[in-house]
Amino acid sequence: MKKTNPATLPPCLTLGDIKVFSLSDGTIRLDGGAMFGVVPRALWSKTNPPDDKNRVLTAINPMLIQTEGKNILVETGMGDRWDEKRREIFVIKREENLTKSLASLGLTPEDVDIVINTHLHFDHAGGNTVEGPSGGLRAAFPGARYIVQSGELACALEPNERTRASYRPGDFMAIKEGRRFDLVERGEVGAETEAAEGVFIFRTGGHNSDIQLVKITGGGRTAIFLSDIMPMSAHINYPYIAAYDLFPLETLRVKKALIKKAAAEQRYLFFYHDPNLRCATVSLSEKGKPILKKLF
Ligand SMILES: [Zn+2]
Repeated sequence: MKKTNPATLPPCLTLGDIKVFSLSDGTIRLDGGAMFGVVPRALWSKTNPPDDKNRVLTAINPMLIQTEGKNILVETGMGDRWDEKRREIFVIKREENLTKSLASLGLTPEDVDIVINTHLHFDHAGGNTVEGPSGGLRAAFPGARYIVQSGELACALEPNERTRASYRPGDFMAIKEGRRFDLVERGEVGAETEAAEGVFIFRTGGHNSDIQLVKITGGGRTAIFLSDIMPMSAHINYPYIAAYDLFPLETLRVKKALIKKAAAEQRYLFFYHDPNLRCATVSLSEKGKPILKKLF
């Protein structure tokens, strides 16, 4: 068992008997224009200053949920299967990483019971697999089932010219072949499936047709893991919708519904990609503008 250093413990939220930790798998840099869509650079650069190649700092913050003695990991981060060229393109920095985050909680990859991939893009599922001793890829969390929407796996297996750059077969083929996926059959948008006590997944569409978000409910409070529906805190503003999204108007509709409910119920919102804010609540101004209040 690795030693726990209290100074490096990840931030934690308690919902009744459920604990929610925000972990880190380091940072990358993504094109600011792609991240903020139709919003002009003059606006988004105020909150997210770009570097000389127009890239904005993008955090990778997976979540660990502990409920009923189970460890549930939401997203597996970038992983470390990256060649030099792409490390440079994305400025991948992983001094902080998922393995260290888990170790700070006294956990190893073997302790994870369930992995939830909101979708299979490389920055969400990049740590799904690791190289085994004989060179082939194997599940990085050998005791875990991996929950993903069946439609998302189908899209990942047959990408097109627009979607191909987001998927790496190495992130999911070994999981599929090892029969470790728990595939959620495509239901209505918003229909919830319980993954564990107090932990629900629901498909939204928007970013792509089969992305799913995570809802955690306990002690009368609810937290939502926003994945790429609102990747950063700036995306709380309605026009901020990533150009990566395949169905931006669907994203807008989902965002409005999520924000309205979050404001009414004082829900906790978890941002996967924001380098400065991981968890916040939201309220609406008199004019209906969403305003975030940072927790950590
Ligand atoms: Zn992402």
